[in-house]
Amino acid sequence: MDYAQHLQEDKFVIFLFHGVIEKQVAQVRNYTRKHLEKDYFAGKLKELISAGGNPVSMDDIASHHAAGEPLPPRSFAVTFDDGFLNNLTVAAPVLADLSIPATFYVTTDFIQSNRMSWVDRIEWAIEETASGLLHLPWRNDAHFSDADSKRQLLDEIRRHVKSDRKIRMDDLASDIQRQLGLPETWASENLLDRKMDWDEVARLHGHPLFVVGGHSHSHAILSFLTEDELEYEIAHSLELLRDNAAVSPKHYSYPEGLAHCYSESIIARLKRHDVQVCPSAIDGKNDASTDLFHLRRIMAV
Ligand SMILES: [Zn+2]
Repeated sequence: MDYAQHLQEDKFVIFLFHGVIEKQVAQVRNYTRKHLEKDYFAGKLKELISAGGNPVSMDDIASHHAAGEPLPPRSFAVTFDDGFLNNLTVAAPVLADLSIPATFYVTTDFIQSNRMSWVDRIEWAIEETASGLLHLPWRNDAHFSDADSKRQLLDEIRRHVKSDRKIRMDDLASDIQRQLGLPETWASENLLDRKMDWDEVARLHGHPLFVVGGHSHSHAILSFLTEDELEYEIAHSLELLRDNAAVSPKHYSYPEGLAHCYSESIIARLKRHDVQVCPSAIDGKNDASTDLFHLRRIMAV
C-alpha cells in the first residue's frame, strides 16, 4: 500500500494498525496483514515523512477541532487497536526513533488475561489443523484442506460474524476449536497473540510520544449490546485503565468500528464517561469539520 498517496493539503488521515512483528512466519495466520513486518512498517513511516507528511497526535486533532483550526497540510496520525505486546516491543521503538506520536487503544480483558480475540482463536485453530470439515451456523459443510481454502473460509467467517448480532463470537470460536479436536484456547504466547500486561500498558502510556485509550472490555460490538451490557463494557474498561495503568482515557475506539457497530446513543454514553475523541474504522479522511466521534481511519496494510 502506498501510504503517502493518502496525504492531502486540506485533509488529515488517521492510520489504523494492529501490530508490528519482526517477520512473517505463519502459513495462514496473519494473512490479512493485521501485523506488519518491522522493516516494512519503518519504511512506510519514513516514506510519509519524506513525502512531507506531518505527524500529529490524537490530542492535536482534538485541540485543533476545539479551536476550529485546520491541522497543518499533509497531517497524519498513527493509531493501534487491541493492545498487542508487539506495539510496545517492536512498533514503539520505531515510532520513537522517528519522533512520531501514536495512540494505542487497548481492550481491557485482553490485557487482564492475555486473551485472544475470537477471530485470532479461529485463525489459530485453522492454522493448527491440516484439513477439516466445519459445521457453521450458516452452513454445514465448510471444508478446508490447504492455505487457499483456509483463507477463503476465514474471510467467510469474518463476513458472517461481523454482520450477524445473533452469533456469539467467542462461543463460535470455542465450538470451532472443539470441532477440530483442539483444546479450548483463549491465550497464547505467540507474538501474533500476546497482549501487553498492565505494567507494559503503563510503560507505553508513560512515554511522552504515546497515549493509551480504551477499546471496550471484551471487544464486543457495542451496537449489539443491551444498555446494561454497554454500560459495563465502557465503565469497566475505563475503570480498569484508571486503576491499573493510571490512564484516564479521553481517547477510545469502537470495536470493529464499522458504521453499524456504533450509534449516537453509544456516543452519548461515551461522552458521559468523559471520552472526547473516538475514531471509527470506516475508511476515509477527515477535515477540520469532521466530528471527533465519527473520525475515519485508513487500515494500514
Ligand atoms: Zn479491535
